[in-house]
Amino acid sequence: MVKSSMASRRPFPLAQARKWAPDADPTDLSTVFPILPGVKPQETLLSLAEEQMSEWMGKTVKSGEMQQQGRKSMPWGVFSTGQKDWETPHLLYAERAHGNKLWDVDGNEYLDVNFGDSPDMFGRTPDSPVHAAVADRLMKDGLSTMMCSKDAIAATRLLAGRFGLSHWMHALSASDANRFVLAIARHHTGRPNIAIANFTYHGTIDETLKFMPAPGEISRFHDLGIYHGAVDEGTKIFHWNDLESVEEILSDRTVACVMVEPVVSNFGWAWPQPGWHEGLKALCERYGTLLCYDETHTISKGPNGMVGHMGISCDFWTCGKSISGGIPGAVFGMTEEIATKVERDHTEVGFFAGAGFGFLGTALCGNTLSTLALRVTLEQVLNEQTFAKIDAAVSTIKAGMEEAVQRHKAPFRIETMGNRICYHFIPEPVTDPIAGLVQVGFGGLFELSHAYFWNHGVLIMPYFNMCLISPAHTDQNTTKLLEVWDGFVDLAME
Ligand code: PMP
Repeated sequence: MVKSSMASRRPFPLAQARKWAPDADPTDLSTVFPILPGVKPQETLLSLAEEQMSEWMGKTVKSGEMQQQGRKSMPWGVFSTGQKDWETPHLLYAERAHGNKLWDVDGNEYLDVNFGDSPDMFGRTPDSPVHAAVADRLMKDGLSTMMCSKDAIAATRLLAGRFGLSHWMHALSASDANRFVLAIARHHTGRPNIAIANFTYHGTIDETLKFMPAPGEISRFHDLGIYHGAVDEGTKIFHWNDLESVEEILSDRTVACVMVEPVVSNFGWAWPQPGWHEGLKALCERYGTLLCYDETHTISKGPNGMVGHMGISCDFWTCGKSISGGIPGAVFGMTEEIATKVERDHTEVGFFAGAGFGFLGTALCGNTLSTLALRVTLEQVLNEQTFAKIDAAVSTIKAGMEEAVQRHKAPFRIETMGNRICYHFIPEPVTDPIAGLVQVGFGGLFELSHAYFWNHGVLIMPYFNMCLISPAHTDQNTTKLLEVWDGFVDLAME
């Protein structure tokens, strides 16, 4: 943590967080537990969570054994850090996943509302048109050609029509799409810095894995020595929903790009206040900063994402995970002016911008499979029909969850964003990410709800209280989800 002019000096918006967690300190997760009327004491919730967790671990013994075997050849016994993020006493190994069901290696069946942390949320085999098209193409046409394909023309035209930016490029993850956008923005503006809102997430990027622990201070999220550069090099941080802090950060005209989500979707949800997005755009224009929206999560709102739904315009737009129906693939869009300059300058700098030194992609980007998957997702999945089905299921589930909340007189709140349903432990909507952290209920409610869901066969995502509803969702699945929710609320209340 260092004192730095790269972080806003404006006071933290702590009022809402402290209303529910009087000692809330955004740098200490043990202080953000909300004190709520009628809810069991924190220690009771934690010990109930432990009971649920140890029951679940008892049903997943084979997974535990496999993790031990896996340790001989993989750190933690798993193949990526994402697979360890369940943070359970032992980690689960999956046998297979079909539709919205997943089976672990012990044979336990789950209603999957996590979908690998989103990629498969718009459907997966056996009834996904994307997976069917890709399987067919793989057997006929191969995977990597290092050449463009007609699917890319079709897909990028669809992207341009739908998301309002004329030119598009491909990446294999949202992290990479965001990384490439920040690089282009620095080149385009000739400015060294980027800016993000405090307590937000945009993937595994050196510049964005930073936060502001206190006004005028900047820090990484942890002390691992895996990043390069000084902690306050390259990144400025402002407060979400605070235009004065944005102006403070942009006014020296060193910021190439502001990267935000339309709604903060990590660290709990934080909604934009009226005028926030318009004000942000106006400030970016005033100070010559480019504006990027990361829709990796919020695409769940509908065929045009949350940006389209809110009518926001921007210079860059990125999306990963689900935009290719679960096949690894991400996109980043830009204006024609930016694309023209990228193309011209890239050509002008000569040989070392080619021959693999281009930086804005890797050999596997734009591969035939991911490109086809993108096209089919846009053509056949991300459309009004799919969302009509999803929206109907989501509103039934929301109403059912709210009914249980009222019956148990629980001070909880249910929110939705397209196919995302979140339960929160602050009874009113949240507009700052610190209250967003409080509403997740870390320190008892989060732990109990997750252990209870998992132990009762609903695979909720490990980070937050979020359930994703896919087109394969049935009335039977709704009944199951509501039963489990009801069981948890009953257990959590006095
Ligand atoms: N942007 C946002 C908003 C995200 O939530 C995430 C990850 N959940 C990413 C980017 C990075 O995605 P990936 O891990 O697929 O690169």
